[in-house]
Amino acid sequence: MDLLPYNTDLTGLDCHTHSRFSPDSDQTPEALVKSARARGLRGFIITDHIDVDRWSEEIDFIDYFKTWERIRNANPDLKIYIGLEAGFELDTYKRTYDLIKKLPFEYIITSVHYVPGPWYAQYDGGRIKTYEKYIDAVLDSLDAPWEFNTIGHFGFFERYAPYPQSDWIMDYESFAPLMNKVIKKALARGVRFEENTKGGETFRLPRADFLQAYKAAGGVRPVLGSDAHSPDAVAHRFDEAATFLDGIFGKAE
Ligand SMILES: [Zn+2]
Ligand SMILES: [Zn+2]
Repeated sequence: MDLLPYNTDLTGLDCHTHSRFSPDSDQTPEALVKSARARGLRGFIITDHIDVDRWSEEIDFIDYFKTWERIRNANPDLKIYIGLEAGFELDTYKRTYDLIKKLPFEYIITSVHYVPGPWYAQYDGGRIKTYEKYIDAVLDSLDAPWEFNTIGHFGFFERYAPYPQSDWIMDYESFAPLMNKVIKKALARGVRFEENTKGGETFRLPRADFLQAYKAAGGVRPVLGSDAHSPDAVAHRFDEAATFLDGIFGKAE
């Protein structure tokens, strides 16, 4: 694995996209390229999912690399990097590592999509307990044995939280001790955050209060990722996200 260095210029790229190689997307590589062009992107990083034991099927990596190398060669004017979104779970991460460690990825997002326990009990115990479990899982994921570039959608458990809207925020104040550990570990490991723009009109992760604390501790501007599973979602609301990040980190050069 020879990942892009920390300071690689990823402006103008959608750094989190999915295609038909993800079990929950049927977006063709050609459609993704077309959307990237239509949105005026400089390029994108393909980051299909692997979540060992959570999906009934996993990526055929031979086909994956063959396909994306062909697409890249056919579109030399776009910067296309071949990446992965690696789901981290304590129970399965060793198998995930075995599956991916010999493959030539250029960019890896490590994401927590599940806390320990079955899918139907993920939110049991209420907001505070659930979110603490989630942040703990993110802390574990920061010890992943594989190299990676970026922490995926920090705050993810908000996205599908079954709590009343007034009470689903994963705010910094309520979880500061744990979130500060995340910040410290992320900085020590040299991995970045992404600003993930998937979701409703004002929804993006991480939130402003977390990013302010991260910046105060020395953190740098997150990269942008739409988490697009379909062509219309590529670079979704990137303009607003850029303005939002400008407000916290100052204008991007
Ligand atoms: Zn994800
Ligand atoms: Zn994703």
